[in-house]
Amino acid sequence: MTARPAGPPGLRRFREPPPPETPRCEMCAEPLEERHGHVVNVQTRALLCTCRGCSLVMPGSGPGARYRGVPERHLLLPGFRLTAADWEALQIPVRAAFFFPHSVLGRYVAFYPSPAGAAESLLPLDAWDDVLAANPEAPRPLPDVEAYLVDRGPERLTCHLVPIDACYELVGLVRLHWKGFHGGPEAWRAIDGFFAEIRARAEAEAGVYGEGRRA
Ligand SMILES: [Zn+2]
Ligand SMILES: [Zn+2]
Repeated sequence: MTARPAGPPGLRRFREPPPPETPRCEMCAEPLEERHGHVVNVQTRALLCTCRGCSLVMPGSGPGARYRGVPERHLLLPGFRLTAADWEALQIPVRAAFFFPHSVLGRYVAFYPSPAGAAESLLPLDAWDDVLAANPEAPRPLPDVEAYLVDRGPERLTCHLVPIDACYELVGLVRLHWKGFHGGPEAWRAIDGFFAEIRARAEAEAGVYGEGRRA
């Protein structure tokens, strides 16, 4: 049943706010659920909000593929060998950073969250190559769409393998909540909550690799 607004139809638009724009899939224009998928445009690095069908665009569907669907796996890598000295060598100025294979550049790139958005680490990543070499059996992120996300928590370093959109979610949280020089309690609560959620998802997916080889 439709409610018929009273009064002459010509006046309706002055009284009723326009309906909020329904978010739509940026590839096929289908209306989107709040929980939706993402696709990376490999050339521009843009992350597109997509429906489930479009986010199933197969990753690595041929070299030069322009779009890659972001997969959903979340893995905890407790056996990942990454020491405090490695972290020092990487010179990441903050608590967390993500590293992913960039298919166009043909190498890993590193980013970290900052109050202004994602900041790229411009240091040469030789130190990261050493970390990879020390972890030959660790599952590798799919180019452009997955990343190693490292959290230098108060007690130890933790490495996760997550979808790239999760990294940008963390970037968004930092950008939204960070205050002053040290972030403030709200920012730290958001960051801790984010990592707790990643851990819970990995455990729910049974995505824990290398348990027992904790350094
Ligand atoms: Zn779509
Ligand atoms: Zn989205």
